[in-house]
Amino acid sequence: MRILDIRERSIALSRYADPAIGTEPLTTSLVAVVTDQRRDGKPITGYGFASIGRFAQSGLIRERFAPRLIQASAADLSTAAGDNLDPHRCWQVMMRGEKPGGHGERSVAVGTLDMAIWDAVAKIADLPLYQFIARQQGIDLPAAPDVDLYASGGYPYPTDDLARLRGEIGSFLDQGYRRVKIKIGAVSTDQDLRRIETVLKLLPAPDCLAVDAMNRYDAVSAIAMARHLAPLDLMWSEDLCDPLDFLTQTAIAGLHPAPLAAGEAMFALAEATLLLRYGGLRPDRDILQFDPVHVYGLSHYLQIVTAVEAAGWSRKAFWPHGGHLFSLQVAAGLGLGGSEINPQAFQPIAGLGDQQVLSAGRAIPPDLPGVGLECRAELSRLLTTL
Ligand code: MG
Repeated sequence: MRILDIRERSIALSRYADPAIGTEPLTTSLVAVVTDQRRDGKPITGYGFASIGRFAQSGLIRERFAPRLIQASAADLSTAAGDNLDPHRCWQVMMRGEKPGGHGERSVAVGTLDMAIWDAVAKIADLPLYQFIARQQGIDLPAAPDVDLYASGGYPYPTDDLARLRGEIGSFLDQGYRRVKIKIGAVSTDQDLRRIETVLKLLPAPDCLAVDAMNRYDAVSAIAMARHLAPLDLMWSEDLCDPLDFLTQTAIAGLHPAPLAAGEAMFALAEATLLLRYGGLRPDRDILQFDPVHVYGLSHYLQIVTAVEAAGWSRKAFWPHGGHLFSLQVAAGLGLGGSEINPQAFQPIAGLGDQQVLSAGRAIPPDLPGVGLECRAELSRLLTTL
């Protein structure tokens, strides 16, 4: 089997339901990987996107990684039996000539194409991606392969912040989410503590709320904030300090008994290994948020899961970053702890399927071949324009 064509397009994303609110620009890449397989008279096409938070990767995809896939032979890309594309072989083709290290955002470009390749192979196998992953990895899925979810959002509003935050969290609860995550670190500590207090009043228990500083604090402020957060016993405190400041991360772990979450700003197995070796994280409670797109895609994420388990962690510690159907599929297929979902930010790529309903704060991936992005009408329309 071969890849005949790859299309890429950059689109704008907003952190708010109303895109007019946000002024900080953010983009992501959408890609379509067109295979030589046909179904119902059309080529089977895999779709992917660059997840969230690291901008579009148009140059790297168009100039470097897509041409390698298109120029590769069928033998380079296919399974030994020749009955499907092999995502691991496709990954090797993309990484030809690349040196170790320097992950930067190269890993995001490769991960974007890798998502589309996994979408295509699951479509060729005519299985939802989570079932394809479980079969390939030899995992027995439970009878109800539903995934524990939390709703992510809570970015500060420029006006009426607390009232609008209350409204946003209320809408998450109305949709069936039981746990939520809000952002901290963008406003004063006093205002952040007011925001936390506001949301806690809407929730049954403190461990239904996580906070995410998006690595904004310097070392001194991170430790000061950790001291404020520690007594609150929240679900977790996420990314307080710089992602590579392992000394501060270790100091935070020493004074914050409640769970910590980290890892979304690690871009490869080598970096994940450094975090676990030097970041002071605790396998009995802490949460690992490596993004299956940003770490060179699912093909490489699987290596991280294997290595982290070998280091004594449970795969239940993995709650992948992203907040979209791909992270849900990966969590379901690998039996991870749970998944982030962005119900209103980062449209149209984030969130569950249009018709999907939650049960007890959990959901099963859509019953469609591949990632199931086609069950999001606005996203599906955008993808077909590729
Ligand atoms: Mg985060």
